[in-house]
Amino acid sequence: MIRQYELVEAVKAYDPDADEDLLNRAYVFVMKAHGAQTRASGDPYFTHPLEVAGILVGMRLDVATIVTALLHDTVEDTLATSEEIEQLFGKEVSFLVDGVTKLSQIQLQSDKTKQAENFRKLLVAMSSDIRVLLVKLADRLHNMRTLHYIKNEEKRKRIALETSEIYAPLAERIGMHEVKDELQDVAFGILHPDARESIVQRLDYLHEQSGDLTTPVIDELHEVLNENGLAAIVAGREKTPCSIWRKMKKKNVTFEQISDIVAFRIIVDTVQQCYRALGILHSTYPVIAQRFKDYISTPKENGYQSLHTAVIGPNQQRVEVQIRTKEMDEIAEMGVAAHWQYKQGTAHDGHQYRWLRDLLDILDTAEDPEDFLEHTKLEMFQDQVFCFTPDGDLITLPRGATTIDFAYAVHSDVGNHCSGVKVNGRIMPLRTEIENGDQVEVMTSKSQFPSPSWERFVVTGKARSSIRRYIRQQKRQQFIKLGKSLIQKGFKESKLNFEEKALEKALDEFQARNIEDIYAQIGEGLRTVPVLIRFLHPELPHELDLEQLSDGRERAISGSKEEALAISGLIPGMAVHYAGCCHPLPGDKIIGIVTTGRGVTIHTQECDSLNPLMDEPERWIDVAWNLKAAESQQHIGRLRVTLSNQPGAIAAITAAVAKENANITNLKIDHRSHDYYEFWMDLDVKDAEHLNSIVASLRSLKKVLEVNRAKS
Ligand code: MN
Repeated sequence: MIRQYELVEAVKAYDPDADEDLLNRAYVFVMKAHGAQTRASGDPYFTHPLEVAGILVGMRLDVATIVTALLHDTVEDTLATSEEIEQLFGKEVSFLVDGVTKLSQIQLQSDKTKQAENFRKLLVAMSSDIRVLLVKLADRLHNMRTLHYIKNEEKRKRIALETSEIYAPLAERIGMHEVKDELQDVAFGILHPDARESIVQRLDYLHEQSGDLTTPVIDELHEVLNENGLAAIVAGREKTPCSIWRKMKKKNVTFEQISDIVAFRIIVDTVQQCYRALGILHSTYPVIAQRFKDYISTPKENGYQSLHTAVIGPNQQRVEVQIRTKEMDEIAEMGVAAHWQYKQGTAHDGHQYRWLRDLLDILDTAEDPEDFLEHTKLEMFQDQVFCFTPDGDLITLPRGATTIDFAYAVHSDVGNHCSGVKVNGRIMPLRTEIENGDQVEVMTSKSQFPSPSWERFVVTGKARSSIRRYIRQQKRQQFIKLGKSLIQKGFKESKLNFEEKALEKALDEFQARNIEDIYAQIGEGLRTVPVLIRFLHPELPHELDLEQLSDGRERAISGSKEEALAISGLIPGMAVHYAGCCHPLPGDKIIGIVTTGRGVTIHTQECDSLNPLMDEPERWIDVAWNLKAAESQQHIGRLRVTLSNQPGAIAAITAAVAKENANITNLKIDHRSHDYYEFWMDLDVKDAEHLNSIVASLRSLKKVLEVNRAKS
């Protein structure tokens, strides 16, 4: 356990300006906060944050990170609050501690591998600062080091699996190879104890048989370089049992066939010296062809730089060597943490988000090509939110996605029958935007269908195209119905008998697959009824002017082109009327009602006259205002007014209307008593909002008892 003065001295050794007081206060605070809590090992709990801080001190991270490491479990596990942390240790630290707390609250809830990549991204997306992730990784590292104290085997395995699937790859992707190796190896021991044990035994046997193979190689390499006038650090490190096992699996080789159990490293001061060291090795020992790689002139995507080579070295042993500078070595071992430490000078002036971006960059240039294709675009990733199903499956959606997008992401049937949603257990509107970490439950009902209005608040292509496909199918059904009734009417007017079967003769002519296609074409206005009748009955006298047949369309085009433009969602060419009962205005929610031979009548959705039509859903069409086109038209709004019977009352009303820049076009008194009048008033207005503001100003008049928009 690192003591208080040791911690401060270790930080001061690499950062002489470090805020000593802050470190001291955090140290004392965390001991008090965790008090008598203990770990599974029986140790006092506070040893854990101290060890985590120690790991990060080893990476030479800044004071805020070290203090965060000390405090990282206080908000979650003690009485300390985030406000208290901010008060005592400042905004930066409390922001970081909150970040770590948030990360600790998520657990891998499903062991499906395909979720792992998303989960790693969730962790990164929630780590608004790279230091949050570094503390989390150090936390996990110490927990893994002490995992064997946990008695419950299932829990141990779950944590090991999570480490192997999530945290170790994450550490690897951000270049922290040392941390990754250790995490992976401890997890390996828990998940595959027998495999690890057998590899450890063979390593022991190898050591026994051949003695220490590493030191003589290091000594000789050192000497060779020295003789050539190059001072270098030479080191050798045995691979972990886990990485040996992985190599055996990946290359399908036996333990004996693995030649590079020890990786040797030559560390020099400059890039030039790297190439010189390489030259010395290559002129001293036979080179194994095709093993040379120059990652200095072409670094790996995660920033890794080194020269790799293999020679038949001391004792005719095959030796793999990596040559690099000290800085390259730190980056190779500590990745992002090393970057942080090298660029710390610029980190405080608002550049911290660059670190997140760099990290995301690295994550996005994954080696797996499938991964690569899936997530090449960085923007794509930053624009994503991650949420869960009630079963804990993770779903990725673009930022701004709503619960409808979520429903369609689960399954198009779930989307098509979505009747309501719960977000984090609470019933919420369908248009609710999803946030990182939300748990979303979709309720479905067989009688629920997509509404055209949904399209206005979905952002995913899947949701949009499913809604459109559904609406299109609905429209086609309407066109078929309308077409059929138009044809029947046309036959009747021509005094012909209508038989559906007879239409089969026109299939080729209409390039239709079936009779429904013919109905749909007529309904949609692509063909006309007279053309159909003339084709089926060429024997009819020419003098009968078939063009005169009203199929409800020609009339419509001449009569109401403008109205038609102001409304979207209509069947092209159909006559349009605004209902006289409710006088819909732009801005009102509206609905179209089809009346055979009369076209479509537009009502407000509140109109009372819709009630008797409820059981004729085939006559309802979804329509909406085309606000641009509607703007250029005048619209009539109708009000029902009750006015007290006093002199000057009507004048007050006309003055108020004039003030609102509207005209009264009609006024009809239908009830008059001693005390009041009741009347209908039609006004020329721009839109619903205009009329609403007139209603408001009329209501403010003393003599006006009641004003309402007409509803029937
Ligand atoms: Mn912890």
